[in-house]
Amino acid sequence: MTTGPAGPGTIEISRLHHPVTVLGPGTRAGIWVQGCTIGCAGCLARDTWDRRTDRAVPVRSVLEWLAGLPGPVDGVTISGGEPLQQPGPVAELIAGVLRWRGDREIDVLLYTGYPWTRARRHTAVVAGCDAVVAGPYVERRNVGDLPLRGSANQRIVPLTELGQRRYGLDAALPGRGLQATVTGDRIWMVGIPRAGDLRRMREGLAARGVRIEGASWRS
Ligand code: SF4
Repeated sequence: MTTGPAGPGTIEISRLHHPVTVLGPGTRAGIWVQGCTIGCAGCLARDTWDRRTDRAVPVRSVLEWLAGLPGPVDGVTISGGEPLQQPGPVAELIAGVLRWRGDREIDVLLYTGYPWTRARRHTAVVAGCDAVVAGPYVERRNVGDLPLRGSANQRIVPLTELGQRRYGLDAALPGRGLQATVTGDRIWMVGIPRAGDLRRMREGLAARGVRIEGASWRS
């Protein structure tokens, strides 16, 4: 996917990935937007904080990537970065995802660092979501195996019948997991680590002579 000048019809993207198996049920497409000013202590994705006009791509390019994916897509997870800090492009993106999915049971799950009371005001975005995981990451509340959430203050809000089935109280939500993806000389960690997971991983790799440099997290 080629980048281009920021402007109408473009969205700043940190990365795209498929298959994602740890951020929602089934096999998913993951879309991470670039830019977040919320600044949660312990954020796993500090590399997504800065807005980067050099990462601007046409929304239609993201939709073409989605439509061209080879395998199954049970859902689309949009995260970041902070999607609600690009509300217009993200609303346009979600509208395109809904057109593409048609009547197929492909859910749209959006992560935001804003509490639901604030996130819900972005009606053009949330109207297209089947569920939203809302709230900032609070490190001291990263306890136990919270499905789909990094900390207990975050709230899963199902918004549609499909969202209710997949993310509601009766849904069998998967526990937390991490997925490692190697791209060139970079390792991407996808998912939501439990407290201490990243430290244990760093120590385990160090014991095998692998040093991590330029990590997007500090723990
Ligand atoms: S909202 Fe998400 S990307 Fe932004 S600082 Fe918090 S955890 Fe990191």
